[in-house]
Amino acid sequence: MRDVEPKLKPILSELDKKIATSAHADALPKARYEVLLRGMRVDIELFREANIPLETELAELDQKYNQTVGRMTVDFDGQTRTMPQMARLLEETDRSLRERAWKAIAARRLQDRDTIDDIYDKMLSLRHQIALNAGFPNFRDFQHRRFKRFDYTPDDCMRMHAAIEAHLVPIQRRLDAERAKALGLAPLCPWDLGVDVKGRKPLRPFEKADQLIDGCSRMFHAMGGGLGEMFDTMRAGDCLDLESRPGKAPGGYQYQRQHSRTPFIFMNAAGMHRDLVTMVHEAGHAFHSILSKGDPLVDYRNAPTEFAEVASMSMELLTLPYHGEFYGEDECRRAVRERLEKFPATMTWIATIDAFQHWIYTNPGHTRAQRTEAWRGLVKRFGNDISWDGCEDARDAQWQRQLHLFGMPFYYIEYGIAETGAIQMWMNARRDQSKALANYRKGLALGGSRPLPELFSAAGLRFELSSALMKELATEVDRELVGAGH
Ligand SMILES: [Zn+2]
Repeated sequence: MRDVEPKLKPILSELDKKIATSAHADALPKARYEVLLRGMRVDIELFREANIPLETELAELDQKYNQTVGRMTVDFDGQTRTMPQMARLLEETDRSLRERAWKAIAARRLQDRDTIDDIYDKMLSLRHQIALNAGFPNFRDFQHRRFKRFDYTPDDCMRMHAAIEAHLVPIQRRLDAERAKALGLAPLCPWDLGVDVKGRKPLRPFEKADQLIDGCSRMFHAMGGGLGEMFDTMRAGDCLDLESRPGKAPGGYQYQRQHSRTPFIFMNAAGMHRDLVTMVHEAGHAFHSILSKGDPLVDYRNAPTEFAEVASMSMELLTLPYHGEFYGEDECRRAVRERLEKFPATMTWIATIDAFQHWIYTNPGHTRAQRTEAWRGLVKRFGNDISWDGCEDARDAQWQRQLHLFGMPFYYIEYGIAETGAIQMWMNARRDQSKALANYRKGLALGGSRPLPELFSAAGLRFELSSALMKELATEVDRELVGAGH
């Protein structure tokens, strides 16, 4: 980070310059090369030698944030536990256990509140300077350009926040009220959001990774569209590393191996429902890799996140009617409900985090008290219908958990845009599955070779951050939720 990257960056920029300013660049066929060239030109336009040491400092601050969060443990009921271990207790049916666990987590996080505020303040002033150096009035506008958001502006993002507020916040709050009623609680508290409303045991779709692979293979074959055949190619050739084992790195992802042009899926399966969700999600990314691997330009074998996550999130939704490979009828219903409830839940959180960053970076030099005020306003605007009485400090410091704010500023709204695509894909498949899947393949086969609106339309989807689209999607999901039962 300190020795290689700073020396590499100017060289890569020189290489980009050689291509983009070559006399032959403009003679290249436009439809084929415009996306590649416009991306390089933005990189060249934003490059400043003076920003390299500032970027290095930022990367080191991000490491410090990760270390601070990573070493958090809690002594609970005589055991030292990590934060992910503690989080599991929030699904327990014993309410007083949940409350104690939630409060122990919150207290531990608050211990480092000032340290994290210090890190964040330093990051903000470095980022503001980076933007000024590159000729931008603030870091928000700079970062939108750096992310090559050619097809939507900061104002479009604000319109999307308003659309989420108008059409999804009311659904979220009605679901909260239903949850409160089912649990017999008034009001709900922050530790009441993870427990099953009927007190049922967690879903257990499989025990061994082989069962997960077999079940997914049958599911994808039953769906049609050639998905099963693509999935089966991953069973050979070291494409899957699924099972959790001691010492294995955490997380789950899909990775395209550019030399062999085969996908690789890494995850830590432990027999939970969320492992099944991860598997079908990463399979969607793998389909994308497989369908776009023929492109000779490495750059075009990856799509921008706003569309790449349509490929994966669509599979979370389109596989739902086939979950009988893993579950009985009642459990299938729970899986459907869980995924549909994720739509308002994630969109309202995405709006909160994105709107927070718009405020943060367009108000440089703000105080911590002003920052807290801004956060409170957003919790009120987008948050769950729960009582924070006695837990105000934990509410005010809640944003400190969101690692994107530290290491990947403004990288989050992409998932919201992708979710609008995935929900559309799900609606299309309910009308005509084989047509929807044919379009899915068409869109994925383009890789990253065309602008976002074209990727969406090739897949039969609208690319819009509008209130009208949000309303349509909200209405459809809500109708399904009302009829779905628990
Ligand atoms: Zn993904």
